[in-house]
Amino acid sequence: MIRFIILAVVAYVFYRALKSWMFPAPDASKSVAGKNIGKIDDVMIKDPFCEAYFPKRNAVHLNIGGEDLYFCSAECKDRYITAHSEKETHNPE
Ligand SMILES: [Zn+2]
Repeated sequence: MIRFIILAVVAYVFYRALKSWMFPAPDASKSVAGKNIGKIDDVMIKDPFCEAYFPKRNAVHLNIGGEDLYFCSAECKDRYITAHSEKETHNPE
């Protein structure tokens, strides 16, 4: 019986060594680098002004009329506000 256990252990160690040799653990380096990056906040969202996709953690937030908007930069936010106010004040009366 003990020979079977030794064989199983050897087989397991060999299997792990072979696996790590064939697939050199990509998640080992990822977990080290990923510790500094907030994985939860790392969501791609779309800028409503320039329509570019960017990570939400870099977003510039704007609440306009109870609606939450996220922009890729403060410049886009300002342009969006300007474009909106122009539309609203551009009433030909
Ligand atoms: Zn933008």
